Amino acid sequence: MKIVVLSQNPNLYSTKRIVEAGKKKGHEMLIIDHTKCNLVIEKKNPTIIYKGKQITGVDGIIPRIGASVTFYGTAVVRQFEMMKVFSATESQALVRSRDKLRSLQILSRAGLGLPKTVFSNYSKDVSQIVEAAGGAPLVIKLLEGTQGLGVVLADNKNSAESILEAFNGLKARVIAQEFIKEAGGADIRIFIVDGVVVGAMKRQGKEGEFRSNLHRGGSANIVQLTDEEENAALKAAKAMGLGVAGVDLLQSSRGPLILEVNSSPGLEGIETATGKDIANFIIKYVERNA
Ligand code: ADP
Ligand code: GLU
Repeated sequence: MKIVVLSQNPNLYSTKRIVEAGKKKGHEMLIIDHTKCNLVIEKKNPTIIYKGKQITGVDGIIPRIGASVTFYGTAVVRQFEMMKVFSATESQALVRSRDKLRSLQILSRAGLGLPKTVFSNYSKDVSQIVEAAGGAPLVIKLLEGTQGLGVVLADNKNSAESILEAFNGLKARVIAQEFIKEAGGADIRIFIVDGVVVGAMKRQGKEGEFRSNLHRGGSANIVQLTDEEENAALKAAKAMGLGVAGVDLLQSSRGPLILEVNSSPGLEGIETATGKDIANFIIKYVERNA
């Protein structure tokens, strides 16, 4: 098969591993930078031009679209879909996953446990936000943040209000979220491919840090999921419509709470922690559908 990996950087661990896993199965693996594709749209003949040449004969694509290029990346995925090429991540699901407000609304409708979360439109009445979120301590998160940057813990009402005031005043979009203390600075990343859990790891923040991100000095270890955790993660990926998903959840006294569902989950942490060939699961998913 001819399989395209949409990636801006051929040197990323995840990109390299997917290419390697595909080649091992005898596939022709092509890395295409979606930001450098031209899309030709005309009556019933959608095509893609890359480096001056039309892309043809593709059986499946594996999108690895960075959050900063979601708009154009999605348009490229959609163009492949219009060319009847199978995508490991549907364009619709990709867009959905990148909108945190919409994602939480979808997960809530699916009946999944979530930390109580308040969105507001830069509201000046910050005391109301704090109250609606259930009072301090609260986690306040920049919507555009990744890797734990822009995630702040406000211990008390005063600090929660002043942090919200500062962000809202700067017109930076933030959410206020119930702090799940019993998670103990850890979260669980569950990697799902085609409705099956293919790996799970527990990430623990370094001493005195409530954020478990590996980029913030956290460490990861393989973890055995409870049935409740596994079911919640599978339901979350399904509600989002994602064939490949990284579901992050917190272990709380009222069961698993979904933090977010990632549509381009990284492979390095999960492959290292579990010792599994996760890339091969993605390749097999494309093989079954292309
Ligand atoms: P990012 O997308 O930047 O990684 P997250 O929302 O995943 O941001 O938050 C980073 C980390 O902070 C999480 O992995 C988790 O360990 C911790 N965390 C986030 N939200 C909460 C919360 N409501 N209660 C307790 N810990 C949290
Ligand atoms: N590399 C980022 C992280 O580990 C995000 C990729 C992923 O979701 O695994 O925080």
